[in-house]
Amino acid sequence: MDMPLLIKPNGLYHQNRNGEIMSENCYMCEKGTLQRKNVDFKMYGELVGVFSAQVCTLCGETFFDEKISQTIDIATKKKGLWGLEAETKVGKSGDSLMIRVNKQLSDFLKLHKGETVKIRPEDKNKLIIEI
Ligand SMILES: [Zn+2]
Repeated sequence: MDMPLLIKPNGLYHQNRNGEIMSENCYMCEKGTLQRKNVDFKMYGELVGVFSAQVCTLCGETFFDEKISQTIDIATKKKGLWGLEAETKVGKSGDSLMIRVNKQLSDFLKLHKGETVKIRPEDKNKLIIEI
């Protein structure tokens, strides 16, 4: 198999030598069939645009071909949604721990110094901050 296997946020897909998505069973569940549809692509709850995709009739997994993935990447960057995920170190102030929110993320969230937010654990590995 020398077909390129591309990994994108929405899953895996195969392409033939002409760059076309091969019509076959879903790459995720391997049972459903793929149908071409226009789908809303959202990131962090913001609509990036409507793009042509192949959608599994069974599990609903969505696959974009490479050209469309590139278009989505460009549109995502234009909307300032690129790179919002970041690592941050936990600091300390008195008995409390502090987590910094970088400028890009605080701009996106319209979060300002002095605001009150609500925090709660979703589980032992996830902290939710409601603004
Ligand atoms: Zn499927």
